[in-house]
Amino acid sequence: MIELANHIDGKAQPAASGATLEDIGPATGAVVASIPDSSAEDVDAAVGAARRAFEGPWGRTSTAERADLCDAVADAIEADLDRFAELESLDTGKPIHTARTIDIPRAIANFRFFAGAVRHDQTGAHAMADAINYTVRKPLGVVGLITPWNLPLYLLSWKTAPALATGNTVVAKPSELTPLTASALADVLREVGVPDGVFNVVHGRGVGAGAPLVAHPDVAAISFTGGTATGAHVAATAAGTFKKLSLELGGKNATVVFADADVDAAAAGAARAAFTNTGQVCLCGSRILVQRGVYERFMERFVAAVEAMPQGDPRDAATRVSTVISAAHRDKVASYVALAREEGGTIRFGGGVPDLPPELRGGFYLEPTVVEGLSPGCRTSTEEIFGPVVTVHPFDDEAEALSIANGTRYGLSASVWTSDLTRAHGFAASLKVGMVWVNTWLKRDLRVPFGGTKDSGVGREGGKYSLAFYTEDQNVCIQL
Ligand code: NDP
Repeated sequence: MIELANHIDGKAQPAASGATLEDIGPATGAVVASIPDSSAEDVDAAVGAARRAFEGPWGRTSTAERADLCDAVADAIEADLDRFAELESLDTGKPIHTARTIDIPRAIANFRFFAGAVRHDQTGAHAMADAINYTVRKPLGVVGLITPWNLPLYLLSWKTAPALATGNTVVAKPSELTPLTASALADVLREVGVPDGVFNVVHGRGVGAGAPLVAHPDVAAISFTGGTATGAHVAATAAGTFKKLSLELGGKNATVVFADADVDAAAAGAARAAFTNTGQVCLCGSRILVQRGVYERFMERFVAAVEAMPQGDPRDAATRVSTVISAAHRDKVASYVALAREEGGTIRFGGGVPDLPPELRGGFYLEPTVVEGLSPGCRTSTEEIFGPVVTVHPFDDEAEALSIANGTRYGLSASVWTSDLTRAHGFAASLKVGMVWVNTWLKRDLRVPFGGTKDSGVGREGGKYSLAFYTEDQNVCIQL
């Protein structure tokens, strides 16, 4: 069993109280690690270390030095990709294939990307007849990074890389369910020469460790990714302290298939959007809207594509769908399958627990499940399930598709499948979401704005948006 410690001021430390939590591996239900159950005292120690580091030599490092360190972090993770992927798969239960091809490569890319982004960043100068203004970007100080369990290193690196590259120091609070790669990242940062106190990790629960981090007066900004209800708590706690806040929250994203689409490509894309990471990506397309003329043709191909995704042991390289994160989450997702039946839905595929070998029976597996026949406004069709369950809805025309797509409290993303470019532009413009893909899904350029509207969040990250979030612009006006 792995014994994790907090990483504070370059040292491995238990929680001040000595309390620990068990970290369960979802593949088998066995305990894989023990982690500190940290409290406000540990958060205070980490913030203190981060503040001292910011006020020390780190605050005087050049952009080039920090960019070189980020590149070194990327190289070190890349050299150890298999171990990182195994840790991530062990902790989350995600297929090792997903960890090797999506999670860890993205973490590497995040460090390389933000190294380049700060090297090429530009700020403005504004000339007046008798004066000149120039603007400089200054780091904020100590930033708090709070991340969920579905993409642990992927999302932590998405925040850590720009935070460090722009000169801040960090206190990270990963999900208590998936602490392993955050600690592995702390080790890598130390090995490549990031000074003590610049990157700290406090493990533990949201209420015990996350909330004191958000409330801490010496933390200048919080970047939070997680559920909408938690995001509301974070926003309320942070409000009185005037921190900068970035909130990346839940989603209930539509995949919209028009009759003029390439139906084979749409079905394959919709299956990937529905069940990547066993349906546990905030961007997953969990509501599929299909124009009536091609509904049955689409469904045959879609169900065949889902059937072709092998479900099983995440450690098996062939597995594409595995387990959800915990017993509690399995029960929540299963309760939505029961609700779908109560609300009048028909299970077209899945709906149960897969038949797995005895060694996996303690894990948290549910079949990928496709539900038809529900009203688009019912709870199953509009609430975030965040697991391997999709609902499919026929529509007649663009207006109906738009009304269903926009008919939830969420507004994160959508994917639209059509061969009519004019329709694609018009439909995208009318969708109340932060990100739209046309004839693809989850194609990511790290320069573009990432974030949601409505209850899916506040603010944008990515490229120049992240650089702006983790810095404060200062203008200097010089009388000539
Ligand atoms: P949670 O909101 O439960 O938790 C997210 C993080 O916040 C965890 O580290 C959690 O700690 C911590 N936390 C919990 N309560 C508090 C609190 N009061 N103050 C501060 N921190 C707290 O989300 P999940 O981990 O369940 O992740 C799934 C959710 O994340 C889904 O809704 C999904 O849509 C969303 N998500 C959004 C993304 C986006 O970019 N928009 C991307 C990925 C996921 P702990 O878990 O240890 O209690």
